[in-house]
Amino acid sequence: MRGIVFDIKRFAIHDGPGIRTTFFLKGCPLQCNWCHNPESRSFGIQQLDFEFKGKTSIGWEMTAVDVLREAEKDQPFFGESGGGITFSGGEPLSQPEFLVESAKLLKTNDFHVIIDTTGYSSTAVFTELLPWTDLFLFDLKHMDEQKHYEYTGVSNKRILQNLEFLVSRGKEIFIRYPMIPGINDSVENLDQMTGYLKELNHIKRIHLLPYHKIAAGKYEKLQMNNDMMGVEEPNPARVNQVKDRIEKSGFEVIIG
Ligand code: SF4
Repeated sequence: MRGIVFDIKRFAIHDGPGIRTTFFLKGCPLQCNWCHNPESRSFGIQQLDFEFKGKTSIGWEMTAVDVLREAEKDQPFFGESGGGITFSGGEPLSQPEFLVESAKLLKTNDFHVIIDTTGYSSTAVFTELLPWTDLFLFDLKHMDEQKHYEYTGVSNKRILQNLEFLVSRGKEIFIRYPMIPGINDSVENLDQMTGYLKELNHIKRIHLLPYHKIAAGKYEKLQMNNDMMGVEEPNPARVNQVKDRIEKSGFEVIIG
């Protein structure tokens, strides 16, 4: 079974506990206006023709054994820091066979495994991943179904169902909330999110990821439409305001 990966990040410190090696799997069923990895969205290896660089490939094939070999190179750093392997994307569950096979191989070789997911996949894939995953990083982009559809191209129903499924199985979950000014940082959305999570009575930590414009250049290079033109990054005071509001609901909030 081969998967398509578009990046491997070593010594990552924002993709879960400790020092991690993150594999970014290609393909995503969502189309978030603020996507930081637009090169990840299409399924399959892309050949792009850049004006000054010539032809460049985005993505390459790997097997689960290739993933294990890459992971082993960084193994000495994981033990000391409590780190391990993270699968991100794109949406890593969009390549279910490759992801399950890789996670299983890593887990049986004593690696700590994290899946960073949009939650938009079938519950059957989450079920298969349960024994091979230590922690899920789970995105919550908008609580309003219509707005979620408007800004990401999909409903949030399946996402919330999958979150509730993981909670019912007692999995460790950190929520990732991308704070996008004017889109999902209203008091209504924040309170709806924290109210919902409180009812689940399981989640303790929320990672607040403030919008940044780092991807603007990628949209130009990829000749893709950038829906975030003119949207400014939130200033630290505003980020702290949102952090305080979430914290007051009883959650631990980590920025970044
Ligand atoms: S879920 Fe992530 S990778 Fe997919 S479109 Fe949204 S921001 Fe991009």
